[in-house]
Amino acid sequence: FASPFEGKIEFRDVSFRYPNAEKDILHNISFTAHPGQMTAFIGATGSGKSTIVNLIPRFYEASKGSILIDGINIQEVTQHDLREKLGYVPQKNTLFSGTIESNLLYANENATQEELKNAIITAQAAEFVFAKDQGMSLAISQGGTNVSGGQKQRLSIARALLEQPPIYIFDDSFSALDFKTDAALRRALKQTTGNSTLLIVTQRVSTVMNAEQIIVLDEGRIIGKGTHEQL
Ligand code: ATP
Repeated sequence: FASPFEGKIEFRDVSFRYPNAEKDILHNISFTAHPGQMTAFIGATGSGKSTIVNLIPRFYEASKGSILIDGINIQEVTQHDLREKLGYVPQKNTLFSGTIESNLLYANENATQEELKNAIITAQAAEFVFAKDQGMSLAISQGGTNVSGGQKQRLSIARALLEQPPIYIFDDSFSALDFKTDAALRRALKQTTGNSTLLIVTQRVSTVMNAEQIIVLDEGRIIGKGTHEQL
């Protein structure tokens, strides 16, 4: 990638079929996601939202069409260079055995205490991390089985924030949060992620309300694209 990296993502007529599957799951997907903006993917379960965002780190390759970042086809960059630009929070988040602090430092071992604290605050996790005496030393069991689904999601988001990536991908990362926390988190993300490109996968209309671009999917096709007012 050229420097300065901007993070403009462009899908051009992308179709996709899972290896060994009989039919395409994505059909002629085209959109552009701009830096400094939130692009949200919404649609019923199975409509292809996760599949779209999973093509960006190249977990799979597009079967047809191309995906460009800052005008460069992602097939022309190494997976290492590509993934270094992405802060990806998967649907199944992955906490491991240790403490809250060690889980967060995994994203950025040089993060200062101040940076850790700020990421926790932005991720709306302060209320359960700092309310306890142990704070960031709170033990986490393998897979995060001793914290709730919503707490896991917020810690995974805090971890992504510490990477300070130019592109964030949140795959259904807000689903276990109540509406108020979800809204507060999106506001805080907007304020702290600056000029990064935000991609959000969700099934909740309230989550996409203030996205600059909403992409509505149905059975692997884009059936609507625009702001909430336009749709
Ligand atoms: P959800 O909201 O439930 O996560 P989604 O909109 O993100 O749904 P995808 O997970 O992208 O949808 O799935 C789209 C389609 O692709 C579904 O029909 C699903 O069964 C199929 N699919 C997903 N992963 C695979 C896979 N690894 N191999 C084959 N088919 C898959």
